[in-house]
Amino acid sequence: MNNVSYELRDKDKATAIIEEAMKKAAKKITKGHVATYIPELGKVDPNQLGICVLPVEGEKICLGDYDKRFTIQSVSKIIMLIMALEICGIDRVTEIVGAEPSGEAFNSLVELDREDSRPYNPLINSGAIAVCGMLIDEISFQDMLRFTRKICCDEDIFMDRDVFESEMRTCSRNKSIAYLLESKNIIKSDVDDTLKFYTKCCSMSVTAESLAHMARVLANDGVSMVSKKRFMSSRTARIVKTLMLTCGMYDGSGTFAITVGIPSKSGVGGGLMSVSDKRAGIGVFSPALDSKGNSIAGVDLLGRIASKLRLNLFYDPEWTKDDHETVGKEIIQT
Ligand code: GLU
Repeated sequence: MNNVSYELRDKDKATAIIEEAMKKAAKKITKGHVATYIPELGKVDPNQLGICVLPVEGEKICLGDYDKRFTIQSVSKIIMLIMALEICGIDRVTEIVGAEPSGEAFNSLVELDREDSRPYNPLINSGAIAVCGMLIDEISFQDMLRFTRKICCDEDIFMDRDVFESEMRTCSRNKSIAYLLESKNIIKSDVDDTLKFYTKCCSMSVTAESLAHMARVLANDGVSMVSKKRFMSSRTARIVKTLMLTCGMYDGSGTFAITVGIPSKSGVGGGLMSVSDKRAGIGVFSPALDSKGNSIAGVDLLGRIASKLRLNLFYDPEWTKDDHETVGKEIIQT
């Protein structure tokens, strides 16, 4: 099998597949709920669904609410990690945060109450807040915003002050995480400044298309297809993609790896960024979430197109069939 998705090279065929999948995925919206623990997010219209697919080779496909703005939330953890790996280096990053799936909710603090423990990984709140504590000694939020605009090819990205202030008023769990990290000497900078930086990063307003641009840079080993500029080393791109596969969908990461199979990162704003390595960058937006905090229609949509467009890591030629035959006891004779 060719490594590159054939179907994406045929824009009309790929568009028809995605349109069909969107109709089915949209039916899931009523089964989810917009996030309300950040009150401002509770005001968002749940009935939105959009996707942007940017192939490494081929034409872009944008459908539905692909240009609607929403806050990036946890997808910004990818940018924090890229910055930390590039500016501080892998040794300093691994001193403060691990690289293992957590199996706990995104805002869990259980692992932090053990002596010697560090956050499981940089893609959950505790890990990302630890990374921010390190980053604020090196960069400002304006640096972060500038980098995000460039890697997302979107100069209109701004910090949504209403969402930022709303979250700052209600982020008791994140505050607890940050103080626990300070007590363990993982955060050495000012805790309030760390939390403000983290929350501002989460409040950047993006579109599915902006996320698809960032995803395509990762799919292309750190180099932009638009400016040909290198945004990060290929090692950083590889580490980020690996963590997206194992930890990017919180405690739903394993199931998502089986049902979708594309390294992805979700955010409670309803955004999803997926990297189909060497093939495409994908951004999805649909704000109604499942119980784990992942976009319910977004995940469904990705699951429907992953195999049909050959975007997944482990291609299974029988995936699109309804009945999956097993070899059974004959396997002993093979
Ligand atoms: N700003 C959110 C928080 O810290 C991000 C969570 C998410 O998107 O999963 O709770």
